[in-house]
Amino acid sequence: MAQRRLSQPEPVEPPLRPRLADQPSRFVRLEREVELEYRPQMLAALQRKVNTVAEDARAMVPQCPRCGRPMSFHDARPVSWLAHWGRLQASPARYRCAPCKQERRPLLDLLGVEPGRICGSLARRLGLLAAVAPYEMAARLAQLLLGVTISAMGVWRVAQRLGQAAANYSEALSQYHADSRSEAASGEPARPAVILGVDGCTLGMQVRTHRRRRVGVEALPALPAIEQGHFREVKTGVLLLPSERVETSPGRRSVVRRFLVTCLGEADEIFRRLYAQLRELGWVDPHTVVVILGDGAEWIWNRATMFVNRCEILDFWHALEHAWTFARLRYGEDSAQADRWVHRIGEDLRAGKVQEVVAALKRLRPKTEELRASLQSLIGYYSENAGRMRYDEYLRLGYGIGSGAVESAHKQVVHARLRQAGMRWSEAGARRLLALRLLLLNGDWALLDRMRMVSLA
Ligand SMILES: [Zn+2]
Repeated sequence: MAQRRLSQPEPVEPPLRPRLADQPSRFVRLEREVELEYRPQMLAALQRKVNTVAEDARAMVPQCPRCGRPMSFHDARPVSWLAHWGRLQASPARYRCAPCKQERRPLLDLLGVEPGRICGSLARRLGLLAAVAPYEMAARLAQLLLGVTISAMGVWRVAQRLGQAAANYSEALSQYHADSRSEAASGEPARPAVILGVDGCTLGMQVRTHRRRRVGVEALPALPAIEQGHFREVKTGVLLLPSERVETSPGRRSVVRRFLVTCLGEADEIFRRLYAQLRELGWVDPHTVVVILGDGAEWIWNRATMFVNRCEILDFWHALEHAWTFARLRYGEDSAQADRWVHRIGEDLRAGKVQEVVAALKRLRPKTEELRASLQSLIGYYSENAGRMRYDEYLRLGYGIGSGAVESAHKQVVHARLRQAGMRWSEAGARRLLALRLLLLNGDWALLDRMRMVSLA
């Protein structure tokens, strides 16, 4: 009886199934018709242009890269490669220098293609999809957006070749700028101040209990659970200008431009890359104040000393978090009193009264040993960092006091693509993908068109 009352009364008419149109809209069909008709024509036009380049290249006799002598003709076997509209063909002449064991196919160098591979703008677009979505999803997007059928593994291979090219370039740029005779590329003037911040997190790495052929696609369910020690630190460094922090709404600032660097591994490495990016931008001269925003981690302050003219800022929210630790202990979790107490400290710190705050803390007489220890640690932390807590001054100079922009940048570089559920990375795979994401997030994606994809055996 009770069940009867709970169920809804049956309507008189049976339900109507939601209806779709019998076929795609007229306009969508027109679009497809045109695409089907012109794709082969585009491919043919492209092939004709390739043939013209091949004609021009026929007379080129390359010099041996080792001994410099003209190389001798060997053969001209046909090759093909894959582009957006289909497969292109050519019969590039192969030249050899037997003594040096060198071989070249000038036409392929001229075109920037590799036989048997996905090349050109199709490769770059697949790389773009892989930079923003997991490989399986990228393959699906390739089908939907580009009309290209490719496996997740195929997308992965393209992303590795492009990512290695991007990683090589950024590494070479770091090395170049490590030499003080390097030149800036941006042509921008040196600035009175630049803000620099660093954030990091760990990445789950692939664990292989026995040797097996590397697959590289990220979701590998067969792998054992992650154990201690199978993580790698990944760090992101951010550069921005105080003058480009704009107030979008009262109290909320956002950044017009920021430049990111990233690396898998050591603290020295991320600072090397930050330094290179600073030189590349041309923002720094001997008068520039380098503002370093840190969350209190020692390794940041230790490396900050490489900038002689610097201003160290302890992230305001980390400073406050330490006050919270003591307040919770003293007043209890979720107590309004703790809230008010921390709020007061925050206001005083913001007003630049760190010495007054420390003096007030020293006047407290906590009752228990635990509270006394917690208070001592808070006093110690504020005293030690007082020189990095002149928040009134930083606000007045427009430097900002929180590392929110740094943290959100790091999340965009790393979390949004590399820290999704179940993802495990090979060292090389993570490096290459990070290099691609960096190009994208720094607005430098077009540089990929000027890089030679790296063949990975
Ligand atoms: Zn030679």
